[in-house]
Amino acid sequence: MHTLEISDLKVHFPGRHGAPVRAVDGVSLHVAAGETMGLVGESGCGKTTVANTTVGLLGPSAGSVKVMGTELAGADRRTLRAVRARAQMVFQDPVTSLNPRMTIGDAVGEPLYVRGIASGRALRERVAGLLDEVGLRPEHAGRYPHQFSGGQRQRIVIARALALRPALLVCDEPVSALDVSVRAQILNLLVDLQARHGMSSLFVSHDLAVVRHVCDRVAVMYLGRIAEVAGRDALFASPRHPYTRALLASVPEPDPVVQRAKPRVPLAGEIPSPADPPAGCRFHTRCPMVAEVCRREVPALRAVGESVVACHLA
Ligand code: SF4
Repeated sequence: MHTLEISDLKVHFPGRHGAPVRAVDGVSLHVAAGETMGLVGESGCGKTTVANTTVGLLGPSAGSVKVMGTELAGADRRTLRAVRARAQMVFQDPVTSLNPRMTIGDAVGEPLYVRGIASGRALRERVAGLLDEVGLRPEHAGRYPHQFSGGQRQRIVIARALALRPALLVCDEPVSALDVSVRAQILNLLVDLQARHGMSSLFVSHDLAVVRHVCDRVAVMYLGRIAEVAGRDALFASPRHPYTRALLASVPEPDPVVQRAKPRVPLAGEIPSPADPPAGCRFHTRCPMVAEVCRREVPALRAVGESVVACHLA
């Protein structure tokens, strides 16, 4: 059993002009025990919608989402509450994730208290342990969020997410709002905690350098669908899908010699509207390799080398 199993997931929203917005339109992927799966793509590709669905914040329009074997599609409130204990989310912005009027001790301990798992001295000890795990001092428990830096606040959010010992940590751009100087520290903390607790992770990011640092496998999304899934090394060494190649070409290399040798794959234009996606391959309006078949037929995901790719010409 995988920690997370998503099958043919569709999440559609009512559109302004009658046509539904197909934010997620037939996504299948899984995250194995202890694995970190990256989910990447441009803004508007549907990756955050997938993330929100895996923790029960959004309901699927169709398809299946299972966390530790429990189906979320059509689940009652009690089941969703149980699943939320197993799948916790770390959002992009630690400022809006924390109640400014709550001490950080109360914020971190709240999931344990609300579920009747710990109270009084036992709760204080659990909170002290959680703060210690994320590199904060137990005596910080009485302070308020505004007394901490952005990086420290994200540590508090992570401590709160760990309180119920989840099997799956869903991280949505967890370092994008942070100062560049603290990003690596938070990423390393996430990697350490995941290894220590044997957690799985779905790691959503637009930043491929970050994904390369933390993920075992990577799924690339484009306009509500999966374009390519591959192991981290295979994806970065030999991307198969033209969209993946274009994304990778935009990541600057630290070595200027390597940077100069990089192939240039222009990614022209804007991502089309998910309310009116192009027929056939959804990437065909921007693809440098587009052929006639691409405008007519939807490419199915198929194995190419070490990757799984949705492209007629890969
Ligand atoms: Fe490009 Fe065609 Fe492949 Fe789509 S199917 S990515 S348009 S080559």
